[in-house]
Amino acid sequence: MRILLIEDNPRLAELVAKGLGTAGFAVDSFGTITEAETTLATVTYHVMVLDLGLPDGDGLDLLVRIRRRGFVLPVLLLTARDGVGDRVRGLDAGADDYLLKPFAMDELQARIRALLRRPGASLGAELNCGRLVLDTLSRQVTVEGLPLVTSKRETDLLEQLLRRSGRVVPKRLLEDGLYSFDTDVSSNSLEAMVSRLRKRLASVPSGVTIHTLRGVGYMLAEEDDAA
Ligand code: CA
Repeated sequence: MRILLIEDNPRLAELVAKGLGTAGFAVDSFGTITEAETTLATVTYHVMVLDLGLPDGDGLDLLVRIRRRGFVLPVLLLTARDGVGDRVRGLDAGADDYLLKPFAMDELQARIRALLRRPGASLGAELNCGRLVLDTLSRQVTVEGLPLVTSKRETDLLEQLLRRSGRVVPKRLLEDGLYSFDTDVSSNSLEAMVSRLRKRLASVPSGVTIHTLRGVGYMLAEEDDAA
């Protein structure tokens, strides 16, 4: 699997290239948008790992351009912890996942493997599971077309679970994703939020359940019809 890494910090780029190389990926590393566009024109990559602040522009502009040109390769953004606006714009612009700096190499490897497993790769504006639909642009949650009221943070949590439905989402990842909306997220408050969300999902024929994997995380899945 060939990965395109676009990161202008030479030390970080070297570390990432080395880490991904160890995991068996072939990595081409570039520090500018111009170089990225040049290589994208001739080489087929399986995943792109994209830093946003680049010397010759904003990584998001590159993302928007390549999506317009029809590139469907999964894109993982490397973003700053306080860059919640960047993450939202990034996902809207067609990114598939993001990782907050600083990150553990293990997690980057795991996220890339997850992106490679995903069918169809690129995500649309609508996420669904069971009879539940989340419009990621309007932030509206519906069940069989009827609105389900959720708080802003519950919607954010639901989005993260929906993006990985059928797979376990580690607690830390969920907390990281909610971090910017609540700088003091404790594990308890995540649990409380999951519990509230569960009640809402159970109050309508959503057709989905949130499973708890103790000490690991949560998984949103379609309800077993037999249950
Ligand atoms: Ca940078």
